[in-house]
Amino acid sequence: MKQYTTNETVDAVIIGTGAGGAPLLARLAGAGLKVVALEAGKYWDPKKDFSTDEKAQEKLFWNDERLSAGDDPLPFGSNNSGTGVGGSTLHYTAYTPRVHPDDLKIRTEFGVGEDWPIDFEEIAQYYDEVEHFIGVSGPANYPWGPSRKRSYPLGPLPVNGAGQLMERGCKEVGIKTAPAANAALSAGYYQEGVGHRPACANRGFCQAGCNIGAKASMDVTYIPLAISKGAEIRPECFVTQLIRDASGKISEVVYIRNGQEERQRCRYVFLCAGTIETARLLLMNNLANSSGQVGRNVMAHPGLQIWGEFDEDVRPYKGIPGAMISEDMHRASDADFVGGYLLQSIGVMPVTYMQQMARGRGLWGQELKRAASAYNHVAGINILGDCLPYEHNYMELADEKDSRGLPKPRVYFTNGESEVRMTAHANKVMREIWEAAGAKNIWAFPRNAHVIGTCRMGNDGDRAVVNADGQSFDIPNLYISDNSTFPSALSVNPALTIMALSLRTADRFLTNRNRLD
Ligand SMILES: Cc1cc2nc3c(=O)[nH]c(=O)nc-3n(C[C@H](O)[C@H](O)[C@H](O)COP(=O)(O)OP(=O)(O)OC[C@H]3O[C@@H](n4cnc5c(N)ncnc54)[C@H](O)[C@@H]3O)c2cc1C
Ligand code: SF4
Repeated sequence: MKQYTTNETVDAVIIGTGAGGAPLLARLAGAGLKVVALEAGKYWDPKKDFSTDEKAQEKLFWNDERLSAGDDPLPFGSNNSGTGVGGSTLHYTAYTPRVHPDDLKIRTEFGVGEDWPIDFEEIAQYYDEVEHFIGVSGPANYPWGPSRKRSYPLGPLPVNGAGQLMERGCKEVGIKTAPAANAALSAGYYQEGVGHRPACANRGFCQAGCNIGAKASMDVTYIPLAISKGAEIRPECFVTQLIRDASGKISEVVYIRNGQEERQRCRYVFLCAGTIETARLLLMNNLANSSGQVGRNVMAHPGLQIWGEFDEDVRPYKGIPGAMISEDMHRASDADFVGGYLLQSIGVMPVTYMQQMARGRGLWGQELKRAASAYNHVAGINILGDCLPYEHNYMELADEKDSRGLPKPRVYFTNGESEVRMTAHANKVMREIWEAAGAKNIWAFPRNAHVIGTCRMGNDGDRAVVNADGQSFDIPNLYISDNSTFPSALSVNPALTIMALSLRTADRFLTNRNRLD
């Protein structure tokens, strides 16, 4: 791998190597720029370092303490963000649906929330590119959303137990389903700069890291492509400061490696540290916040899960966990809430399931033992729904310090009326599906998933932190590319959209660079 010295002024420093950082890193390196990626986490070798052991794999989560406040405090750790070269994609489930055009225009449609400053068509061309580069598996004819330029490059993955039960229950109650688009390979796949990746072995441990590279995490897709084009990845480097020169531009990035402070000089900075850390870094450095919007508009998808016990052997640890989908509730005819939600089947590893029963159902002792012994017969479905931005949901720096001596982030979150109504609607729908599929002992686990927002994009620098290209309104050589820039939460899983926007940000930057210089 190419290595740059810290006295050299590189073209760009990319902070964070997840879904937001890795694609643009590869694009900028491919354009011949000198690029260095600083990543707080380790550079894992999946073959050696990823075991079929949920507890051991907790190393993939961002485990530094975050303070949670509000009426529906968000759990962090495994629930929300990852660390390591590849970021949260190391442990994501790899559901990769596209957004619907109307999700980007929530304010126009409902009079609340926020419209995106980008049209669907612009994102769609990048969806197509990402799907074909990372190798998304999906049905030949996906039943929802606008028509596509090309089908998914690979056919659907085998459907696990929960997916088959969801299909059966939905059919009974008249809800359409399809095998989900999933960024795990249903057949071997060749990628430029990467080589051959093997097909999914149905190991079922996607959320603990895929040890064969069948799941398209960034460490087996865009990161090797970036390295092949000349990028340097510097793992275990925790960025603490962004230094500005006399003109107000960022000229140096300060980070801690092996307990020592180092600095990298650069012309441009791409901040891709994820919703919480991107905002924390800006707030700590008092940067890019003339709008007062950094840390505001925290959103989290309503993610209610409904579980049931079945007579059949389900074995929920087996097969690809992200298997079956329905988008029939995208705009439900009887909706009394804003936007919509999708339904997805769940594959669950044993420790995660036991923790949910203790936390979500309050079971303990003999009761927990009895419920745990039914593990091989349980199946779950969940929703992923839109969430509005509210004044009362935000992130701030707390007085309490973390192990590095930096202020801990405190995140306030309370579901609004729309999210509460959506969850009630989904509770009814999913219970009907599970009853129709033959479930007994049905129970609900309320939750919110995927933290989004804090540095939203927009056309007006008084109300947004970055413009539609991801460029800071205040600091022209600072870009943000991660889930912090979403103006609204969208009713689909976010990773594919983050990757598509990452490529778009890189292209917009490359087009405008001469003018910017
Ligand atoms: C269990 C689980 C399952 C999920 N499943 C899905 C799914 O099926 N489909 C989907 O679309 N989404 C899913 N998600 C969500 C998805 O993984 C994330 O939304 C997405 O990966 C976020 O990408 P990002 O680039 O914004 O941030 P991240 O991927 O979190 O990347 C941020 C990176 O920045 C690094 N970093 C942070 N601070 C610093 C610093 N100061 N210095 C240097 N580096 C730093 C971090 O270590 C990290 O590697 C799931 C999430 C979880 C938790
Ligand atoms: S189910 Fe497939 S993609 Fe997921 S961890 Fe196993 S082999 Fe990898």
